[in-house]
Amino acid sequence: MKKIQQNLLNWFADNARDLPWRKTYSPYHVWISEIMLQQTQMDRVIDYFNRWMKQFPDIASITRSEEEKILKLWEGLGYYSRARNIFRTANILKEQHDGELPTEFKLLLQLPGIGKYTAGAIMSIAFNKEYTIVDANIERVFARLFNLAKSVKDKNTHHFIWEKAEELLPRGRTREFNQALMELGALVCIPKNPRCKVCPVSDFCQSLKKNVVHKRPVITKSSQTVFIEMATGILTHKGKIFIQKRKPKGVWANLWEFPGGRLEPGETPEMALIREYAEETQLQIGKLKKITTVKHSYTIYRVRLHCFLCSLEDDRFEPVLHTAQEYRLVNPAELSNYAFPAGHRKFIDHLKNSGTIF
Ligand code: SF4
Repeated sequence: MKKIQQNLLNWFADNARDLPWRKTYSPYHVWISEIMLQQTQMDRVIDYFNRWMKQFPDIASITRSEEEKILKLWEGLGYYSRARNIFRTANILKEQHDGELPTEFKLLLQLPGIGKYTAGAIMSIAFNKEYTIVDANIERVFARLFNLAKSVKDKNTHHFIWEKAEELLPRGRTREFNQALMELGALVCIPKNPRCKVCPVSDFCQSLKKNVVHKRPVITKSSQTVFIEMATGILTHKGKIFIQKRKPKGVWANLWEFPGGRLEPGETPEMALIREYAEETQLQIGKLKKITTVKHSYTIYRVRLHCFLCSLEDDRFEPVLHTAQEYRLVNPAELSNYAFPAGHRKFIDHLKNSGTIF
């Protein structure tokens, strides 16, 4: 065990990536980076993190802002509940913890968006306290290192991995050790074609010894991918564009959007869009012009989004909102001030790049 620890720590000292939140290990930086890294690749997170810190250099600056601005900065990262939770947490910290992150695991767990993993990451990486963390990278490393013949999602296997991670934790070096394990999974013990020849723990790797690395970790089908077709349309009225703000609960809560939705069986995209406008706003639209189709993903869904321009059928503009909390009529240039879900943002970018309405 000692040798595994030492090899990993030495390797990390020489190979750790120069990441912005590793400069000072400030609890605020670690917290924001960990929330961003949930569900998002490191490469994308770095840009967002740097932009975030320019706009919100500390917890107090978040509390002085509005949720709308936070969502705008988060636009494109997906899983927007993360951004809303940061906003809520910052305000709780201001009111109950003197504007600082608490240094106790159980208090961290009470904050919105902070679960066992994130609390452990903050405790170990920011405060260097002895807390174990297990993420997908660590699961993969351990499944190979200990040649685990069952899926890492299996209850006993999961438990075994946590136990091993705790056993391996070196006193006083938690910060480096937890990161070393994750870094090993990200750079060396990668999902496909792991780089065993340069691995600092290859001497102890049981699946390498048994020549079954390619079979580890055991993969089971967890969530299936669902392909769906959707339609949306930008309604122009007297030179302005209709946008509506989604309700505060549910998917894409509080984000802005153009009306639209899923195609029902037998519907063309045009039929679906006319129906969705009527259902969501009671507006009768017509003169649909197909602009493009964009692809995007959210949770398990892979979406083909049919994008249109449209106008009112009879010039009667009396929207009644059924799925949104408010609407606005905005100039095309103002669209950049609002946060939209990824598919709608791609549609806007397409219109901008092709010079269609800007
Ligand atoms: Fe992963 Fe290969 Fe290292 Fe084993 S030897 S831990 S499979 S990189």
